[in-house]
Amino acid sequence: MQAGAASFSTGILATHALAADDVSAMDRERMRSVAAFTAETLSTDHPMAFGADIVSTATGERLMRAVNRVGPDHDPSAHAETLTIRLACANLGSGSLKGYTLYTTCEPCAMCMACALWSGLDRLVFGATIADAGRFVSQISIPAKEVAGRTDLHCVVAGPVEREVCVKLFTDPRMQKVFAMWKKH
Ligand SMILES: [Zn+2]
Repeated sequence: MQAGAASFSTGILATHALAADDVSAMDRERMRSVAAFTAETLSTDHPMAFGADIVSTATGERLMRAVNRVGPDHDPSAHAETLTIRLACANLGSGSLKGYTLYTTCEPCAMCMACALWSGLDRLVFGATIADAGRFVSQISIPAKEVAGRTDLHCVVAGPVEREVCVKLFTDPRMQKVFAMWKKH
């Protein structure tokens, strides 16, 4: 299985230019899935619009999913993507996520995109854009594709995918209440 994942990954790299914007029906389905998972938090005490999912690129089998935990963990680096990468690597007992794809409800910030690159993820697929999120909450406005384009590390970035579904997480009144509280701090 490992060899299969590796060869699939090589195929992706070989068609890097073509694959960058190549979005499949499976990508859309997985994005809707992580958005639904993230939406579950809206009816809890900790509503959150940022969620991420890491799946095997070859089989689609889920390895790990999590939402942003900056508040509960008192950790400014605990964005959904970095946290999911951290948990996935701990689960694998490896610092490499080669052979895996990350789906995130929002385009990753520079920190998260750098973490994705360092982790060796094959692909990263995002839902809402940084600009979408920036309408409601502070953002570092460097497009993920720009970060990925300024390194010799490889991670195909695709998105926005199911943008409207993901933007709804941000415009939900329960999330808007949380964003208003963040602004006061
Ligand atoms: Zn981030």
